[in-house]
Amino acid sequence: MCRHLAYLGPPTTPCALLLAPPHGLLHQSYAPADMRGGGTVNADGFGAGWYVPPSAGDGDRAGLEPVRYRSDRPLWSDTSFHTLAAATATSAVLAAVRSATPGMPVVSTAAAPFAEGRWLFSHNGVVRGWPGSVAALASGLPVTDLLTLDAPTDSALLWALVRHRLRGGEDPGTALADVVVAVEAAAPGSRLNLLLTDGSTIWATVWGHALSLRTTPDSITVASEPLDPSPGWTAVPDRHLVVALPGRHRLVALTVPRSLPS
Ligand code: GLN
Repeated sequence: MCRHLAYLGPPTTPCALLLAPPHGLLHQSYAPADMRGGGTVNADGFGAGWYVPPSAGDGDRAGLEPVRYRSDRPLWSDTSFHTLAAATATSAVLAAVRSATPGMPVVSTAAAPFAEGRWLFSHNGVVRGWPGSVAALASGLPVTDLLTLDAPTDSALLWALVRHRLRGGEDPGTALADVVVAVEAAAPGSRLNLLLTDGSTIWATVWGHALSLRTTPDSITVASEPLDPSPGWTAVPDRHLVVALPGRHRLVALTVPRSLPS
């Protein structure tokens, strides 16, 4: 199962968040601690997106759209990314290392983060019975969305379902929760840890897999596994939505309605 991370806080570098910590995403790519659901390493690609603080004269939209880097290679083997990650200042990051679900392709476009405009998205888990179980859900999307999926994977479809709701103006937390509930109803037993940010807020679901968070007075880090052994990490209980901002977060319990509208 993939591992993912998001951070909001004082300016830092992707290197300090992903590569340097003793159990950062780099370490989790070859020595993850909690791979429930299969896989032993996260070597089928990686990706990172980060928001670059605007500088004077950049215009109104500067800083809103993240920079994204994705690869089909293991994180440990891409030294160009290591150089870039050390030289980039940012105060908002979302990144992931991938362990491809058997049968799904190992291509850079299947690696999170998926992106549109200011949004970055990641999925840690698997949709059971893929793709038949969620065909009816997918058929509710515009056909152009289906024809332009990043990759033929469950995670890319989940992003298309979330993105469709965001485009319609739905609250981001509600969009994640609604997609988790709908997919679980169609494909019971799925693992649906979703992670979304716009660079100012992080939304995350915990559904069948681990997630921890660390809040300091001016930052928030959300990660599949704690990045270090410090006592500041708290595990988020299963079946919850996290809404997090620097310095604070709240949890909302998620439930699947007993009878869903047909
Ligand atoms: N099923 C997704 C994929 O293959 C996510 C995999 C994971 O979480 N290990 O990309």
